[in-house]
Amino acid sequence: MRTVYLDNNATTRVDPLVLEEMLPFFSERYGNPSSMHSFGGEVGKEMTLARDRVAGLLGCDPGEIIFTSCGTESDNTAIRSALEANPDKKHIITTKVEHPAVLNLAKNLVKKGYHLTMLGVDSEGSLDLEELKASIRDDTAIISVMWANNETGTLFPIREIAEIAKSRGVLFHTDAVQAVGKIPMNLSKLPVDFLAISGHKLHAPKGVGALYVKKSTPFRPFMIGGHQERGRRAGTEAVPGIIALGKACELAQNNIAEENESVRFLRDRLESGILNSIPNSRLNGHPTERLPNTVNISFKFIEGEAILLLLNEHGICASSGSACTSGSLEPSHVLRAMGVPFTFAHGSIRFSLSRFNTRDEIDFVIAKLPPIIERLRSMSPYSE
Ligand code: PLP
Repeated sequence: MRTVYLDNNATTRVDPLVLEEMLPFFSERYGNPSSMHSFGGEVGKEMTLARDRVAGLLGCDPGEIIFTSCGTESDNTAIRSALEANPDKKHIITTKVEHPAVLNLAKNLVKKGYHLTMLGVDSEGSLDLEELKASIRDDTAIISVMWANNETGTLFPIREIAEIAKSRGVLFHTDAVQAVGKIPMNLSKLPVDFLAISGHKLHAPKGVGALYVKKSTPFRPFMIGGHQERGRRAGTEAVPGIIALGKACELAQNNIAEENESVRFLRDRLESGILNSIPNSRLNGHPTERLPNTVNISFKFIEGEAILLLLNEHGICASSGSACTSGSLEPSHVLRAMGVPFTFAHGSIRFSLSRFNTRDEIDFVIAKLPPIIERLRSMSPYSE
């Protein structure tokens, strides 16, 4: 049975060109980039190239990139750094729809004495910027707002939010794990202090990430030890992953415009194909301010998990919420924050595409899904 993989916001396939680039660093090029000998030094040069490539995609200076182990580490480092650099400031602002990498850290910090404001969203998943402005206090240390939501793809107005933060002298972090490589960005022209990236969301492997820290932003390291990453993140560098992340960023940068158009075309085909053929289905998230690869649809009266199981029988991979929370039958915190009615919230499916999807795969899903929904509704005690 073939696999139709539409769960790219959970993780992506490593691009074959990325794999090719990283493989020698597992075998013949195993040197330590910190070594004095040229065997290690040559590896260090390749890491410099990787850093240049990441910076190229983000539109920043390579010195502003710190390699990490994942998006979660980058988010944790940014927020903890802001708090440590401002010990008198105890207030954190974030949103109710963040990934647990930010949300659970923020909740954990409350237990340690910090104060937290969690901004709500409207029914399309958008923020109220007046509410954001009103929530800023004299002791606000950091505002952390994601660039793109992992469940719905909804984009937040990062420029406006960053400008609000800057005008009030507050540090600003954005979790851009889902946005990097999918929408163009130029950090040299944005007053963003920190930005988190994860390799496995953009066709590099799992276990590598990066944190952008603006040159002028005070920084306190999270990992303390050796001098790696100029003392900003200790620990011998995971070279193969870093090389892979560099290549993945280069590919993303070269193809972003063309890819967005083709991925968006397939996503729109899937979206309209489903919404037009299945009654009592609705889009979750912003209709236009949205990642080009993501569509989240609710089907009234049925459970998302049941839909996933039947899709799985056809080799179709999707998600019923955040990958990290699947397994739990609670409706997603994102859909709850958007006020999606209970009868819809339980039956939500996220399809997330990549450049490796084809029109044939999308048409296969459009053909297989309606009978699945019909079958489940015929068994549902809640169905009209
Ligand atoms: N932030 C967002 C928006 C995500 O979607 C994810 C992963 O799903 C993360 C952070 C965590 O990234 P990682 O899996 O690299 O720790």
